[in-house]
Amino acid sequence: MKRIFSISLQNRLALTYALFIGFALAVLTVIINIFTGLIFTSLVKTNIAAKSTEIVRVVGERYNPMSRGFDTVIIEAIGMYFVHEGYITTVEDESGGLVWDARACDMRECITVIYEIAGRMEGQFGMSGAMRKEQYPIMYAGRTVGIVTIETYGPYFYSETESTFLASINRLLVIATIILMVTSFVISVILSRAIARPVNKSAEAARQIAKAHAGGVGGKPLTIRIDDKCQTKELAELARSINSLAAELEEAECRQKQLTSDVAHELRTPLTCLQGDIEAMIDGVYKPDRERLESLHEEIIRLAGLVNDLNTLTSLEWERLTLNKAEFDLAALLRVTAEQFRAAAAEKGVEIHLCLVESLLTADYDRLKQVFINLLSNAVKYTDNGCVIVSVQKATTVGVEWEVFITDTGIGIPEVDLPHIFERFYRTDKSRNRSTGGVGIGLAIAAAIVHAHGGTISVESNGKSSVFKVAL
Ligand code: ADP
Repeated sequence: MKRIFSISLQNRLALTYALFIGFALAVLTVIINIFTGLIFTSLVKTNIAAKSTEIVRVVGERYNPMSRGFDTVIIEAIGMYFVHEGYITTVEDESGGLVWDARACDMRECITVIYEIAGRMEGQFGMSGAMRKEQYPIMYAGRTVGIVTIETYGPYFYSETESTFLASINRLLVIATIILMVTSFVISVILSRAIARPVNKSAEAARQIAKAHAGGVGGKPLTIRIDDKCQTKELAELARSINSLAAELEEAECRQKQLTSDVAHELRTPLTCLQGDIEAMIDGVYKPDRERLESLHEEIIRLAGLVNDLNTLTSLEWERLTLNKAEFDLAALLRVTAEQFRAAAAEKGVEIHLCLVESLLTADYDRLKQVFINLLSNAVKYTDNGCVIVSVQKATTVGVEWEVFITDTGIGIPEVDLPHIFERFYRTDKSRNRSTGGVGIGLAIAAAIVHAHGGTISVESNGKSSVFKVAL
């Protein structure tokens, strides 16, 4: 079997967060670096230009218009000061004669400064520049009285203070990035753990439920539930879904257990009777005369009917019920069904009255017939004198089209039994019903069919008569 590489949700989330944050931080750092570099370079270039202008200005101030010459002593002091700053200056007078030259003044110092700057720019900042010369005129009364030539490392250079400042900024940026990366990694681990924990819990619960369910009817009860008070909407929804699935499975399991025990119980009694009777006949205790055989036959038919009913109920409750819907007149269906019971009712001296109006309905004709057969058979079965009334009327409730009432003047249903009457195998009086032959499935079948149609079935009884209402 091909093994699929799988990674836990927590690790996946942590990795995704970490990668995303790492990438975002790296991009941010590069951008900040580039921008700081650009801004700093432009500041430095402005500074160099300002310094050059300053040199020209102070040298210009040393021009004496009377002697048409320069104060070389002061110019030397100014020039040497700027040599230390990285500006190698030469001053010429208006006729091109050399006034002062930094190199001629102190060659050693000039070379030292140039090497220092070039070493810093190439070693620390990876720049390969060269010495560049710029010439500036010295103006006096609108005419050029001299030329200042300034030689600097170009295209630009950082002074010692500037390079220290830039290096500190870069160092700070690196430290901040490392701190942010570590912090965000820790946060991503905490965050992913917080998200993954409820998911893992749900998965574990689902596994437990599946395990308990696989145990079948005899297995552990499906009482496992997850805490659904999670602050994340989707995770709370997941927990609720699993809980409702578990509840449904638990209910289904209970129904299955109940059905198994009910069926066993319902079959055991008549089978024991049959077995006893047949054994008695084999042993010669009874003679297998016609009357006894007919009674056995009746019991077998009743059992077959029970199995049939169970089959119908199982298919109604467990399988997806497919309804063959067509439009028909509900009144006609009720009339035909009632006619089937007229003879049996008359035999007991019970009359069947119909109070019907044309009532067109789209539903499954055969299934609904089964509902009314069950209700009418009960009405006739449990009524010894009086009448049974079958009526249909337009519904007054929203969402309901027709309401069918089957009213009898029979023995009524005790109030305590009313809420359970539609439950499978529920009988109001066990001993009484044994004689009437019912096992308590008829109403459960009727209810399942009505519900499959989206309708409701209910009963009211005052202890003397009963009214069954089917709303469709
Ligand atoms: P059964 O096959 O026992 O009649 P049902 O599911 O049809 O089963 O009915 C369940 C129980 O409800 C019956 O056993 C009976 O006690 C009670 N019942 C149903 N219909 C009536 C009625 N019209 N009058 C009195 N009791 C009724």
